[in-house]
Order: sequence, then C-alpha cells, then structure tokens
Amino acid sequence: MIVNISLPDNTKYDITIDTLEKQYFDRKVVIVTNPTVSGLHLEYLKEKISAKELSVVTIPDGEQYKHMKTIEDILEHCFEQKLNRNSLLIAFGGGVIGDMTGFAASIYQRGIDFIQIPTTLLSQVDASVGGKTGVNNKFGKNLIGSFHQPIAVNIDPHFLTTLPKREVGAGIAEIVKMAVTFNKDFFSWLEENDLNDKENVKTAIAKSVETKAWVVSQDEKEKGLRAALNYGHTFGHVIENETNYNTYLHGEAVGIGMVMANELACKIGYMSEDEALRVKKLLEKYDIPTDYKIEDVEDFYEHFFLDKKSLDNKIKFIVPKGIGDCEITDEISKDDVMQVLKGFTN
Ligand code: NAD
Repeated sequence: MIVNISLPDNTKYDITIDTLEKQYFDRKVVIVTNPTVSGLHLEYLKEKISAKELSVVTIPDGEQYKHMKTIEDILEHCFEQKLNRNSLLIAFGGGVIGDMTGFAASIYQRGIDFIQIPTTLLSQVDASVGGKTGVNNKFGKNLIGSFHQPIAVNIDPHFLTTLPKREVGAGIAEIVKMAVTFNKDFFSWLEENDLNDKENVKTAIAKSVETKAWVVSQDEKEKGLRAALNYGHTFGHVIENETNYNTYLHGEAVGIGMVMANELACKIGYMSEDEALRVKKLLEKYDIPTDYKIEDVEDFYEHFFLDKKSLDNKIKFIVPKGIGDCEITDEISKDDVMQVLKGFTN
C-alpha cells in the first residue's frame, strides 16, 4: 500500500507499507543505524540495497545519545566517505535514528536526501512521516532541529517481529492518539480488531500514516493543526521528566497523558465519561499504562511550563471533543487542571 504526502511547496513523497523491495541507487549511500537494529536486520536490508558505494555508520542505541556529538559522528563518517550533495542517507532504526539521520541530512553540505526505513511501530506510524528532525540538549527534548522531509518512507512490517512487547504498546499508544484526535471510524475499527494480528497491524499503520500525512500536508511547520498530534504529550512530558526518563517509554507516558487529557475534556464538557472509558479500555487491552500517582500537584503543574510548547507562559492543551475531533487551547483555567491532577493523587 502506498500513501502519498504532498506539501504546499510541491514536495511530494511516497510512504510505502509493504515488504521492502530491492532498491537501486546510482549514488553513494550511507545507512545510519544502531547495534540493536543492525544485529537483527542489517543483513536483510543490505540484500535489498544496491548502490554505487554503500557504507554503514553505527551509533550507540538510546535516547541519551540523541545529541549533537552523535550528529558530529554521523557527519564525520559522511566526510570520510566523501559524500557529495547528490549522496543519500538511509535512517534505519526507530524514531531516535530517524530524527538524527534526518537532521544530519539536513545540514550535511546544506542538505542532502534521506530515506526513512523505520523499524519500531512508533516510528512506522508517526516519527518517520512529516520531516521533523532533531536532537536533545540539556535544556530539553528535540530543541535543536530542522524540518527536512525524506524523499521516501519505506515501512516494512517484517521488522516488527523482533520488537519487544512494551515497544509495540508504545507504538499502539500513538495509533490510538491519531484515531482519537482525527478519526472516529478508525477508533471504532481499533476497538473491533486485534492488533496482535499481522494484517490488522498493517491496516492500522496505513490508517495512522494516512492521518499523519493529511495533517502534515495541512500544516507542515506546526503553526496550528499539527500541534493536535501532541495530544497526551503535555501531561506525558511531565511524567517522563518527573520519572527521569527511565520508567516509561515515551509512548507509554503519552498513553497516561491521553487518559489525563480525557479527564480534562470530561471536566470541561468536551467528552463523555463513557468515551473516556473507551479510550482507557483500548489502551489497557495492550497493557499500556493508564494510571500514574502524582506526588505533588503544584509541582506537576509547574512542570508544564518547561515544555517548549508552552509559549508566553500559557499551557497548550490538546483536548478531545468526543472521539475523532479535538481542540488546541491555552484557555483552560488552572482550577480545572488542578482538579484533574488531584484525581491522580491516590
Ligand atoms: P527508539 O528509536 O529509541 O527505539 C526503541 C528501541 O527499540 C531501541 O532500543 C531500538 O534500538 C530498538 N529497536 C528498533 N527497531 C527494533 C526492532 N525492529 N526490533 C527490536 N528492537 C528494535 O524509540 P522510538 O520509540 O522508535 O522513537 C522515539 C523517538 O522518536 C524519540 O526520540 C522521539 O522524540 C521521536 N519522535 C519523533 C517524531 C517526529 O515526528 N519526528 C514523532 C514521534 C517521536
């Protein structure tokens, strides 16, 4: 299956969801990956790539290496291999590899092409599509980066066979996010179908990617609509931060964050308790955590302001309006938010 993405500046590319086909490149190609992914799948990938010259740069595995020093290492490899402006990078891994490869591609000799071959469910349904690239620094996550679209995204569900269960859950949380914010029918489909089935996963990837492609084509640079994809993230980022990024996977924190955002939506009359329960049940079906104990609500609230999306000292919340629609707002009163947070103190 192929989903097209088309941006207002005429940038277009295909997102292919299928077994990877043999690819021929009459140019130098560098695959960027990490030891985990390369150990499991690099041979499979290499069999499918034919290039003028092919090399691999392996960077350490983990979000803690998503910083400028690793970008320097990738660029150094590119210079050593004498890549020119016609050369190509391939991001082969999860969202961390994708974001860093995209960023390196965007600045190497002022920008070269790159292709996404995402290998986690989260990166297949979300991170590989839409051209957001970047790294973290001591001030926060993804604060340095660029918008640089890939020339193609090749999603091969084969890679998911080796993905640990928790990582699968983290990806499903992002799938649920797409459905709750934009697609009521997709949400009902998710309730009725089991994502432990391979064909269903493929369908869910396609539907998520279609949604993301549509959103990005409306608002590539996140001036408005694209911010809705941060549903669950306002709360989730605080949870990740409070737990020092070592307790929950990003997608898991987003899962809890969505449950909190839904409580807020119920509080202000945007969502019924029944709808909120349906979302919670769907997450729990895949063992995605939905509960979190807040120790200090004032402290939790203050943490919202550390988020780069909290402009002008206002907190931006993505609040679902029922299932399948949402509103981006910075008009929610502290009182309403505090009441919701207090519900998570027991
Ligand atoms: P990740 O890239 O850290 O991958 C998770 C783990 O799974 C890693 O240890 C990885 O080596 C391993 N792995 C990858 N593929 C595997 C496979 N097939 N089998 C077994 N193990 C495998 O994490 P992620 O969840 O893929 O991505 C999270 C990152 O994505 C974050 O840095 C986040 O900021 C970013 N992100 C970016 C966007 C965007 O629009 N650019 C959107 C969402 C998230």
